[in-house]
Order: sequence, then C-alpha cells, then structure tokens
Amino acid sequence: MCPDSKLYTAEVIVFAPFQQTFSYLYPKKIEDRALVIVPFGHRRIFGIVDSCSEGVEEHDYELKFIFRVIDGEAMMSMTMLKIAKWLSSYYLYPLGDVVKTMLPLTPYLINYRKYRLTAHQGEVQACQHIQDLAAALRDIFRTRKTLQTKTIESKWQAIDPEYHPGKLQEAVDRGLLKEVRENEPGRSLSIKESTASKKLTGCQERAFRELVGKTVAQKEKKPCLFWGITGSGKTEIYLHLIQRLIDQKVDPIQVLILVPEISLTSQMTGYFESRFPGKVAVVHSGQSQSVRLKHLKSIETMEKSILIGPRSAVFASFRHLALIIVDEEHDTSYKQSTGLTYSARDVAVLRGRYENCDVILGSATPSLESYYNCQQDKYSLVSLSERVNQGPLPKVIFHRGSKSKNIRELRSKAHDHDTPHLAINPDILREITENHRNGAQTMVIVNRRGFAYYLYDVSKQEPVKCRHCSVSMTVHREKTRLQCHYCDFQVDVSSVCGDKQENYLLVGYGSQQLEEFLIDRVKDARVKRLDSDNAGEKDHLNEVLAAFRGGKIDILVGTQMLAKGHDFPNVTLVVLLDVDHLLSLPDFRAGEKVFQLMVQASGRAGRAHKEGKVLVQASRADHPVIQYGLNQDFIGFAQFELTFRQHMSFPPFTRMIIAEWRSSSLKKLNDYTKTVEAWLADTKQYHSHLLRKGTLRLLGPSTPPISQIRDNHRCSLIFSGISWKEVKAVASIFQTRFRGNSRGVKLLIEVDPLNLI
Ligand code: ADP
Ligand code: ZN
Repeated sequence: MCPDSKLYTAEVIVFAPFQQTFSYLYPKKIEDRALVIVPFGHRRIFGIVDSCSEGVEEHDYELKFIFRVIDGEAMMSMTMLKIAKWLSSYYLYPLGDVVKTMLPLTPYLINYRKYRLTAHQGEVQACQHIQDLAAALRDIFRTRKTLQTKTIESKWQAIDPEYHPGKLQEAVDRGLLKEVRENEPGRSLSIKESTASKKLTGCQERAFRELVGKTVAQKEKKPCLFWGITGSGKTEIYLHLIQRLIDQKVDPIQVLILVPEISLTSQMTGYFESRFPGKVAVVHSGQSQSVRLKHLKSIETMEKSILIGPRSAVFASFRHLALIIVDEEHDTSYKQSTGLTYSARDVAVLRGRYENCDVILGSATPSLESYYNCQQDKYSLVSLSERVNQGPLPKVIFHRGSKSKNIRELRSKAHDHDTPHLAINPDILREITENHRNGAQTMVIVNRRGFAYYLYDVSKQEPVKCRHCSVSMTVHREKTRLQCHYCDFQVDVSSVCGDKQENYLLVGYGSQQLEEFLIDRVKDARVKRLDSDNAGEKDHLNEVLAAFRGGKIDILVGTQMLAKGHDFPNVTLVVLLDVDHLLSLPDFRAGEKVFQLMVQASGRAGRAHKEGKVLVQASRADHPVIQYGLNQDFIGFAQFELTFRQHMSFPPFTRMIIAEWRSSSLKKLNDYTKTVEAWLADTKQYHSHLLRKGTLRLLGPSTPPISQIRDNHRCSLIFSGISWKEVKAVASIFQTRFRGNSRGVKLLIEVDPLNLI
C-alpha cells in the first residue's frame, strides 16, 4: 500500500432512521456535502458529509473508516443543507432521510454512472498495488470505451474474488478511471404550438406591474399570492415576468416553476419552450430516471435556466435561482403523502427566504392557508379578476340529481345489466346531446373512478369490503373486477358472487360507467375517458389531451384531474356530477375541496370566444359552499369558510400534527394505545394551563374513519393548537417517547396533514 499517514475525521449525516450525524475516518479530506457510503452496524448505508477536518477526535465509540466516497463533489448547496435541517426539525423527520428525499435517487445515480479508462495506466515506477488495479481494469474494459458501474463491478468480481466497491473508488482516486459525464438533456415533452409573446391586455398589464412591484422590484422579499380567475391569462404573465427578469439582470438567472402532478407539465413546457427555446428543463413522473437526472443536471450546470416540474422539483440544485412560481398553489398534489410529508408550496416559500429569491403562488382558488397569510400580511396579494377574452365567467346552472334508485328498486333491476341507468338529470343529458349536435366539445366530471361505487351484498345487507381494509371495494372494468382504492387489492366479481349473481347489486357510478352511458346515449359522439386508472398508461394521457385539443374527441369523461388548469379553447359545456358527495366526508377541508372543484371545473368552459356553460348536478343547492361555488365567489367563500374554521379551531387558525400508529395485531395496537393513554393523562395534567387556553389541544387517541388499511389496524392522536411552538414541542416529546418503542407497531407522524381519514 502506498503510505499516507494523515487521517481526517468526517461528520456524516447518515441515511438511517433516528440518527443524525456520526463520525468516520478517511485518509483524505472530503468535500463538505459529498456523498459517501459508510459502515453502519452490519450494513453499508449512504450519507453525506456535514464537515471534515484533519486529525482524529476522541469519541466514545470506535471510529470506522468511510467505505467509499461516491463523488468528490458536494451533492447539495450549503443553503439546501440548511433547508434540510430546517425541514427535519419542522416535519419531525430524520435529517438523513430528509437529505435522501431531496437528492435525486442516489443509488441509481451510482449504478448507472459511466467510466472510461484514463491515459494514466499505472507507470512502471508505481507500486505493485496500483499496477494490479490497472491490469484488472484493462482486463475489464478490453475494447470497450465506457462501462457502467454495475457492469464494472460484476466483471471485476468475476476476475477478483476479493473485489469490493472500495477498489473502484480507489481506481478513480488514483486517476486510473474517469467518470464520463453526459450533460445533454433528452428531448423534453412538448406540444408544438406557436406561442409568440402576446401583448398583455390592460388588466394583465396592471396585474403584471403590481406583481413586479411586489416581487422582483422589492428588496424585502415576501411571497406573493397571485389570485387570478380562471382564463385570466396567468401563464402569459409568468412568461412576461421571466422575460423581464432576463432583460433586467446582468447576471444569468434561473427560474423554478412548480406544477401539479402530472397532467399539466406538458402544456406548461410547451408554452415555455417555445418562448425560451433551448432554455427549459423539465422533470415529471413519466420520465426514466436517467432522463430526469440529465434535466436536473442541466439546471445545476446552468446550461438551462428554467425548470418545470412537480413537487420534488422544489429540491433541485440551482446556481442562480431568482424566482419560484408555484402554479395552482392550492393543489393537494404538492403535499407528499408518505415518508417526508412535505408541502412543496411551503418548501418553496422557505427556499425563497433562504435563497433570497422571489416566490409567486398562483391560483384561481387559493388555499385558505395562503389567503389567510395575506390577511396576516405575511404574503402580499395581487388579484386579476377579468378573463383575457373579457368574456364573462361561464354561467353555472344547478340541477338536482335524479333520485338514485334505492336498493330494492335496484334489485328488481338487477338483471337488467345491459342498459346503464345512471342517476343523471335528463335535462343535463339533453344539454350534452345538444352541445354535441352544435359541434362543440363537452367535459363531464364525476368524483369517482371505476364502474360502480360498490357491490352490495343483499343477503349480508352490506357492501363487499376489501379483505385487507375496512372500506368497500370499487367495481371496475365493465363490472368484472373489484378493486380496493386503498391497498389496490383486486378480486374478480365472479369469484365473489359465484352463481348467486342476483344477490349482488351495483350501487352508484364512476367514470367508467359514465363513459359507457354516454357512448350509449349520445349518438355518434366520440367519447373518451381520462382518470388515474388510465392516465398512467404510457403516453395515454398526452395522447388523449392532444386528441381532445385537436377536436378528435367530442366528449371527455373523467375525474377531478380534468378540472385542473387545462386550456381547451373549444369546450363550451362542462358538467360536474354529484359534487356534494364530497361534502359528506368527515374532513374539515371538504368544503374547500368542493368549492375548488366547482370553480376550477367551470374554468374549463368558454375560454376562447365562445360562451361557456357549466351544469352542476347536486342534491343540496342550499348548502353555502355549493352556493358560493355556483356564484364563483372566492372572497365570499373564503370569509364563510374561515369563520367556520376559526369557530371550530381548525387550520389555518390552529396548527396540527397527527400521530398514527398501526399494527397488524389488534392486541399490540391496543396495548400500545394504553401506554399512549397513560402518557396522555400525565401530559394533560402537566400542560393543563395550555389546554385551558386552547394554546394546545390533544384529541384522541381514536380510531380513524377507515379503521384498517392493508391489514393494519389504526389508531391516531391529534396535536393541535394556536401555538405552533407548543404543539410541536409536545408532539416531539411524544415522538421521542414512542418511536421504535414497540415491536410490531409502526408510528407515523404527519405535520400539517391534509387528510384526516
Ligand atoms: P389561466 O391560467 O389564468 O386560467 P391561461 O394562462 O391558461 O389562463 O390563459 C387563458 C388563455 O388566454 C390561453 O389560451 C392564453 O393563450 C390566452 N391568453 C393569455 N394572455 C393573452 C393575451 N394577452 N392575448 C391573447 N391571448 C391571451
Ligand atoms: Zn384494501
């Protein structure tokens, strides 16, 4: 071995639960925030270096050597590491796991990294060890120019039984191997449309100047909520803002645009790419990892200046980030529902603060959190309340749903499977038919996917439930299959019913049945369906959207995903079916969801020069939320809903953390719950003054509305209250006390939960 006597101690943030940093040794100085593999118990895990200094410090545990340095370079900026630390503390989530979430899939990065041999192939005077390495490499590469890590490793193992990944790393360190970098991003998805810069309308111009005044021209940065009604031309304003930034700044600038998952990316990319050709990188879930990494890299290297992507893009590496735009900021897809349950909108605001860049949150239906932040003067507000074409918002007309058939009536019709008999108001059906005859396009939105809500077992007098969850299963694919929307468990309808078909009834309808119904009833119409069941199929989503835009589809049927942000100029009729079903969910945000759905869906109608019409089918016209939705009255709705939230002490007036524990064993769950109850009794006594004032509230433990998911029984405890400090402190104590405390029980903690079901 070539002697190298100096040793360095590196503080490593390890990617393991419960741990923060550990010290390790290495014979060379390592760059801060470089990615490393370290021994950890019996395993080898990833970590990133927090700091590295010369010498060996005293520790109460034996220091081990870093196993491998993946890349000499920092994997994230200093600012991003600060953000990681903040997120770890805010979301009560281990720092290493936060860092892991933020980085673009590191294991993949390593396996698919390519190397080539260098000219330096072990000079004669080099020590035997290096010469051996060089010989092995020549044998592995032979005539090949480049090889991927995994190929090198498997070939090396074949010729050297003592191979370990440290050897590859050493070959790189000794200059025998060099990584091949590809910076050329793959072709991005885009729709070819001419989008030459448009002259802003008078209203847009005013909003634009106001936005400039409140953001880029402002020294004291404050996030800005941009509330512009549907069809007001927000995208055009974003394009002008970016153009202005580019024109005004001497230095290069970069912009991040967050869009909701998944359907909107291509439309946005199309606009931006044609306006800023060659400058746009894009990430989305339909990409392969390598394409995605190339796009991210092109931002990191400054080759591209605009990144468009869904929530995870908020963690991308930028060099000169000047502006973050969160489009459709109210969209729930910005919240990650598993692992680190961050809200990309909130991270964007935080990132703006840390990077001193501007943040614009745009929406036609702002979240109440953001709107409340404006009232509290934490965000500034710019509004735009006129449509580009100066056309009025579409007329929204209420229709009572046809009475849905009760079980007995259904039963008498149980054999009548061939003619779909949906509870659709006949007037609505007439309007759809007429709109089609007039040569215009229609969108029909229903709040469920699948064929029917559930299959009702008449003899047991209950819906057929999932074997693994306490929910009824949805009937899919032409009535042949039952599927659980929580765990994806599937079973054939025939295997459930056996030869007793007449004992089972289809209840309610979803997008599949609606599609079938419209094909049957609206003669000659080309009907297509788009929902999350088929949107994931390769290119299906973009194909259907393009076909609809190109007039090759007359009626597009689907779920809420159709209501999001799309711009289809020839849609004159939008039908929204049974929105009020959502209102009955045990969720304090149900009203907000219904209002957003109504306004967003309405926003798809009458966007070009044709007048639009929206038909809403619901059973409760008198419900205030439905009324505000029909009038598209955001301010009225916000006041009403905020009053309700304040009265009920719900967010945004209080903060909320939910702790949930799960176990496949009901006994273990109950034992665990008992210890929680004991802890709770003490805590309540200790904090009685806070509880009295409402600074802190502890609700539970209780069984959530869906008591069992994936064979796991559930129980939860809600920490809420006016004081974030107190809420978090108590939840944090709870976490320390209970995590990893009991075998067979899993504890999950979610900060700012969107869903209490
Ligand atoms: P929003 O996102 O606010 O609902 P969009 O940005 O989708 O609205 O714009 C609605 C439509 O108006 C789009 O087709 C867009 O191309 C068009 N548009 C926007 N601004 C202008 C303008 N200044 N002149 C002409 N058309 C415009
Ligand atoms: Zn299930």
